[in-house]
Amino acid sequence: MAETRNNASRPGVAGKAYTYVDHQFDVVVVGAGGAGLRATLGMAEQGLKTACITKVFPTRSHTVAAQGGIAASLQNMGPDNWQWHLYDTVKGSDWLGDVDAMEYLAREAPAAVYELEHYGVPFSRTEDGRIYQRPFGGHMQNFGDGPPVQRTCAAADRTGHAILHTLYGQSVKNNAQFFIEYFALDLIMTDGVCTGVVAWNLDDGTIHRFAAKMVVLATGGYGRSYFSATSAHTCTGDGNGMAARAGLPLQDMEFVQFHPTGIYGAGCLITEGARGEGGYLVNSEGERFMERYAPSAKDLASRDVVSRCMTMEIREGRGVGRNKDHIYLHLDHLDPAVLHERLPGISESAKIFAGVDVTREPIPVLPTVHYNMGGVPTNYWGEVLNADSENPGRIQPGLMAVGEAGCASVHGANRLGSNSLIDLVVFGRAAAIRAGQVIDRESAIPPINEQACEKIMERFDRIRHANGSTPTAEIREKMQRAMQEDAAVFRTQETLEEGCRRISAIWQELPDVKVHDRSMIWNSDLVETLELDNLMVSAITTVYGAEARKESRGAHAREDFSARDDVNWRKHTLAWVDEKGNVKLDYRPVHTETMLPVDQGGIDPARIAPKARVY
Ligand SMILES: Cc1cc2nc3c(=O)[nH]c(=O)nc-3n(C[C@H](O)[C@H](O)[C@H](O)COP(=O)(O)OP(=O)(O)OC[C@H]3O[C@@H](n4cnc5c(N)ncnc54)[C@H](O)[C@@H]3O)c2cc1C
Repeated sequence: MAETRNNASRPGVAGKAYTYVDHQFDVVVVGAGGAGLRATLGMAEQGLKTACITKVFPTRSHTVAAQGGIAASLQNMGPDNWQWHLYDTVKGSDWLGDVDAMEYLAREAPAAVYELEHYGVPFSRTEDGRIYQRPFGGHMQNFGDGPPVQRTCAAADRTGHAILHTLYGQSVKNNAQFFIEYFALDLIMTDGVCTGVVAWNLDDGTIHRFAAKMVVLATGGYGRSYFSATSAHTCTGDGNGMAARAGLPLQDMEFVQFHPTGIYGAGCLITEGARGEGGYLVNSEGERFMERYAPSAKDLASRDVVSRCMTMEIREGRGVGRNKDHIYLHLDHLDPAVLHERLPGISESAKIFAGVDVTREPIPVLPTVHYNMGGVPTNYWGEVLNADSENPGRIQPGLMAVGEAGCASVHGANRLGSNSLIDLVVFGRAAAIRAGQVIDRESAIPPINEQACEKIMERFDRIRHANGSTPTAEIREKMQRAMQEDAAVFRTQETLEEGCRRISAIWQELPDVKVHDRSMIWNSDLVETLELDNLMVSAITTVYGAEARKESRGAHAREDFSARDDVNWRKHTLAWVDEKGNVKLDYRPVHTETMLPVDQGGIDPARIAPKARVY
C-alpha cells in the first residue's frame, strides 16, 4: 500500500505535532452506507484502487435501519412496468424531479435488484421462489389510474440490513480498502478540482491525507438538524458541510420528508410496509380519515400527503391520547402469522418503544423527519454540478455524490417510499460506471496540496481548541428546536422568517462553542462539534430556501401559498453559505426531457406533463 507516515510540519495550537499519514488512491469514497458501498464495489470490481472511509462501522450506517424495501418493476406479483414506476416517481416528486434521472432510475431498477440478488441479498420469496414484493405508498398501477402495485422488493422488514451486509462482503472480496472509524474533515480542492480528502482516525488520532483522482461523497442525510427524526444520530450531513465549505451549492434543501408513522415520543420508524400489508390510521373518532382525503390510495397516498392529513386531523382537535396530539396505526386486524413473518422488526419496535402489542392494540404515531430530498446537486451519473442559473450543467471535476447526500434529483419535492434504496444502488452503480470512463488510469495521482491541507487543519485546530462558554449540546438543541418549530410540516411566511432569524442567530453563536476534551483519541466531544458545524450548513440552507419558495410543492407545504406554482417555481433551488453564515440563493431549471424515444418503448412525454396531484 502506498502510504507515507511523516511527523507533521503543523504544530497544532497545543504545541503537539499531528502525525500525518498520506495515501494515494484512484478513488476515495466517503461513506459506507448502501450508496457508498455500491459505489465502492463498482469501482473496485473495475480494478480501480479504491478506498472507503467511514465514521461508523460499514454495517452500522443508517441504511441498516431501512425496513420496508426497494422499488423495482419486476412484475413478480402482478402487472407492472418501468413506465408506471417512472410516472409514479414523477408524480411523487410533485414535478420537481429531473426526468432524465428519474427515467434512468426506473429503467435500471430491475437490473440493479437482480444484481443484488446475485451478490447474495436474502430477499423474501413468493411461493414459486421469486423475490417477494409488497405494495408501498404512491406506487400504483396503470399510470396512477389503477390500484396499488406490488413493486417493493423486501427481505422481511430488514431490507437495508440485508443489502448492507451483502455489499460490504462483496467490497472486501474485491479488495476495496476500508478506513473504518475515520472522520472525513474536508475536501482538498486544487485550482477548482477536487484532488482528495482529509480524515481523522478516531482510534489513534492520526490525520490521513488521501490524494485521489475522484472523491465520492456518500455521507447520507441530515435528519439530526431536527429535534425528532427517524434517522441515526450519525446522520449529520457531513458531506453537505464539506461541499459548502468547498464553495459548492446545495440543491433543494427546503424539501424535508416527514414520515407519517414515527413512534410517538421515541421517533423511531414504523415502516410504510405496515400500511402496505393492510395497516390503517384512525383519529380520535375512530375514523379512517385517509379515506376522506385520498379516496383511491387511502392510507397508501404519498408520505407528504399522509403526514399533512394527520397534522390537519390533530390541529382540528381529532388527535388521540391525553393531549390529542397523535394518531393511531392499527395492525391488530391482521393475521398474527403475517405480522410475524412480514413485520417482525416493527412488532418488536412497537413493544420496546411504545409498550404496545401490535396484535391487540394500535401503535401511537406522529409525522417525524425521515429523509432529505435535497443535497449536493449531481447529474444522473453522480457527477457533482457546480451549477448556477447561468451554468446549470457545469460539472465539478474530481467529485461525485450519491445516495441521500446527493441530489440527482430523482425525488424532487417528495420521495416515494422504497425509492431511496433503489436510488442508492442504481446511482452508486452509475457513479462507478462513469468513474471507469472518466478516470485516466495512466495519469499520476495528484500530489497532496499542502496549502489546502494547511487550511483544513487550521479549521480543525480552531474547533478542537474552541474555548467559548456554550457546550455543543446546548447549541445543537437550540438548532433542533428551531427547525422543528419553524420549518416542519406546516409552513407560513411568519414561521419561516422566524426560522431564518433563529438559525442565523445560532450561527453567530458557533464561535462561542466550548469543546471540553482536547484529545485526539475517541474524542466524541470534538466529533459532535464538527458534526454540529455540518448540521448548521444544512439547517440554514433548508430554512432560507423554504422562506424564499412562495408555493406549496411536495414536502414543502405552505399555508399562505397553498397551491403549486409551476410558472414561477418549477425550478431547483441552489444555496451557498459562507463562513459568516450569509446565504446566497439561485435557481436552475428542472430537466423535463425524456431519454428513450416513444417509438422505442419510451414514455409519452404528455403522460408526465404537470397536472394536479391527487391520490
Ligand atoms: C429508519 C429508516 C428506515 C428507512 N426505510 C427505507 C426503506 O424501507 N426503503 C427505502 O427506500 N428507504 C428507506 N429509508 C431511507 C434510506 O434508508 C436512506 O435514505 C439511505 O439508507 C441513505 O443511504 P446512504 O448510503 O446515502 O447513507 P447512510 O446509510 O446514512 O450512510 C452514510 C455513511 O456515511 C458515513 N459518513 C458520514 N459522515 C462521515 C464523515 N464525516 N466521515 C466519514 N464517514 C462519514 C457514515 O459512516 C455512513 O457509512 C429509511 C430511512 C430510515 C432512517
